[in-house]
Amino acid sequence: MGSEIGMLDTLRASGALKQGHFLLSSGRHSDQYIEKFDLLRQPGATSRACALIAERVSSQAIDVVVGPTTGGVILAFEVARQLGVNAAYAERSGGNETGREFRRGITFAKGARVLVVDDILTTGGSVRETLAALDAHDVDVIGVALLVDRSGGAASVGVPGFSLVSLDIVSWERELCPLCQRGVPLVKPGTTPSKAS
Ligand SMILES: [Zn+2]
Repeated sequence: MGSEIGMLDTLRASGALKQGHFLLSSGRHSDQYIEKFDLLRQPGATSRACALIAERVSSQAIDVVVGPTTGGVILAFEVARQLGVNAAYAERSGGNETGREFRRGITFAKGARVLVVDDILTTGGSVRETLAALDAHDVDVIGVALLVDRSGGAASVGVPGFSLVSLDIVSWERELCPLCQRGVPLVKPGTTPSKAS
């Protein structure tokens, strides 16, 4: 089973990839929505997703797996655990600063080979901030691994890497939405509580 099919199955089975009629944060309407935390709150499913990343990088020497808060921290921990290396977490900078930094006294060995992981690539902002935070350290970023690229291939983070699955999520302006035209009720994601079970 390829990682693309494996990740798509994992997304579907966890309930994270939803079909319906959704109001996106952009104001556009779509028939698909990903609630990544429906995956990330299931340790078994998250572990399977991380195994797909670990498989893909198994031929490379990696010293540290780095991820940005919040979802990337969970993935960095689990990918690092599976690879038998340490993780590090890029947190939002405090105060009025923008971007991310490594807090809590995290240090890297000189020349450490770093794999960056994150959940969903939309604009690439959190990955770029993580790479910028790594610039302050003497490390070698060997790549970026993502669970899902939903940028349609548009977001570039400037270093080599891969996404386990690429999803081209179609969206429409309200006036052109075929689901509105069929009278399908519109849902704003996050307003319907997820079942805890
Ligand atoms: Zn609509």
